[in-house]
Amino acid sequence: MALFGEKFKCGRCGQKTEPMGYAPIPTELGQKIGAEMCQGCWKEWLQKQNQLINHFGIDVSNPDSHEFLFDNMKIFFYNEGVELAQIDTSQEGKVNWWG
Ligand SMILES: [Zn+2]
Repeated sequence: MALFGEKFKCGRCGQKTEPMGYAPIPTELGQKIGAEMCQGCWKEWLQKQNQLINHFGIDVSNPDSHEFLFDNMKIFFYNEGVELAQIDTSQEGKVNWWG
């Protein structure tokens, strides 16, 4: 989309598009992602996250589970750490706890 600024390039998919422009989660990682990643990649992550939550039966009200998701988020966006947790992609669900 040439209409948009040419300076931004998504840190994950490399598309020259618009950054998210806001922190999707209230952490340093969230700020980084909001500034460096595009909306499309965030949407992809949300799908992945739902799969993780369903697959592992994650209780999102438990702060420990947030760490797990944040770790996977880092891997998803920055290839940090080992591999994304293996999931069964046939699982689907709708969880929205990011507000
Ligand atoms: Zn992207």
